[in-house]
Amino acid sequence: MTKVERTELYRDHLVQVFLSKFLVGEIAKLIPAFDPDYGYKYPLLEAILGDPAKVEGFLDKLSENGILDKELYDKILHCPHCGSPNISIRYSCPHCRSFNVTKRSLVEHLKCGYIDTEDHFKEKDKLVCPRCGKELVEPDVDYRKAGIWCTCNSCKKSFDIPVPSHFCRKCHNDFTFEDATYDDVYSYKLSDEARQEASLGWILVTPLREFLESQKFEVETPGFLKGKSGASHMFDITAFKNEGAREITVIDLATSDSTVSEQPVIAMFAKIYDVSPDRACLIAIPKIIENGKKMAKLYNINLIEAKNPKEAVKALEDTFVNPKRQS
Ligand SMILES: [Zn+2]
Ligand SMILES: [Zn+2]
Ligand SMILES: [Zn+2]
Repeated sequence: MTKVERTELYRDHLVQVFLSKFLVGEIAKLIPAFDPDYGYKYPLLEAILGDPAKVEGFLDKLSENGILDKELYDKILHCPHCGSPNISIRYSCPHCRSFNVTKRSLVEHLKCGYIDTEDHFKEKDKLVCPRCGKELVEPDVDYRKAGIWCTCNSCKKSFDIPVPSHFCRKCHNDFTFEDATYDDVYSYKLSDEARQEASLGWILVTPLREFLESQKFEVETPGFLKGKSGASHMFDITAFKNEGAREITVIDLATSDSTVSEQPVIAMFAKIYDVSPDRACLIAIPKIIENGKKMAKLYNINLIEAKNPKEAVKALEDTFVNPKRQS
C-alpha cells in the first residue's frame, strides 16, 4: 500500500528534484542548520520548495511513506514567552538561584590526599601542594582531577552541582526547563527501499542528469536562473556547455498517469519568456495532449514524449546531442 503512495510521490517533480540530490551523491544526509532567529532550518530543501512553511510537511510525508529515514539529530529549546530558539543555559546557585557562579576544578594530591581547587595549587606555572609543598608533575600519578567546585558570588555558598536555568537572548526572559518547549529535530537520509526503487528508474531527474554530464554539460538540478524581471525561476534541470559563448539549456519534467495537460507548457513558457535560454525542453511522461503539442511548437519549446526514463534519455540525445539525426 505504501508502495503505491510512494509511486505517487515519486511523480511529484519537487520530490524528484530533492531525491536526486541523494542519488547523485550531492548529500548523504539532510542535516538541519541552526539559525538563531528561526531555530533549525533545511536550507537546501527550502530552495527547492521555495517556501520555508512547506518544509516540515514535505519531510513528514516522505518519512511517513518510507522514502526517508529520520534520525534524532538534536533537541531544541524555545522560550515560553516569545518562542525564540536563541537560548543560553545558565548554571545557577542551588541556594539563591543567582547565575553569578564561578566554576573551578578540584585537584587531589594523590601522595598526601589533599584536595582543593586548582587555583590553590598554582604557583606561577607550576602546581604545588599547599599542604606538603611537593610539586605535582604527572597527571594520574602525582595528582588527579577530582571534579568541579562552584562558588556563588552572590550568597558566597559553595556547591558541586549547579541548577540549570535558561535565558532568552531575544526577550531577556529567565525560565526553567519546566516551562520551556523542548522539541525533536531530525536529520534525514534516503531509505534503502527508496534507493532501490530509484535505481529501477522511478526517479527521472537522475538518469537525465547523468546523461547530460556524460556529454560534458555542467548540470544543476534544480537550476535557478534570473530573468529580465529580476525574478529567479526554477527549472528541473539547467545545463551549460562552455564552448565559446555560454549556452543555456533548460529542461522541465511533467508526468501523468495517462496524459499530461497543457499546463506545464504554459508554466514553462512564462519562465522562458523571462529568462530567454538558448534552448528549452519539456519532457512529458508518458505523453501530452494535442493542444500541449501545438502550444509547445508555438512557444519554441522542444517537446519530448517518453514512456520511461530510458526513452527520455534517448530522445534527449536525439534532440540536443545529435540534432542531425532529427527530421
Ligand atoms: Zn523570549
Ligand atoms: Zn547563591
Ligand atoms: Zn600534598
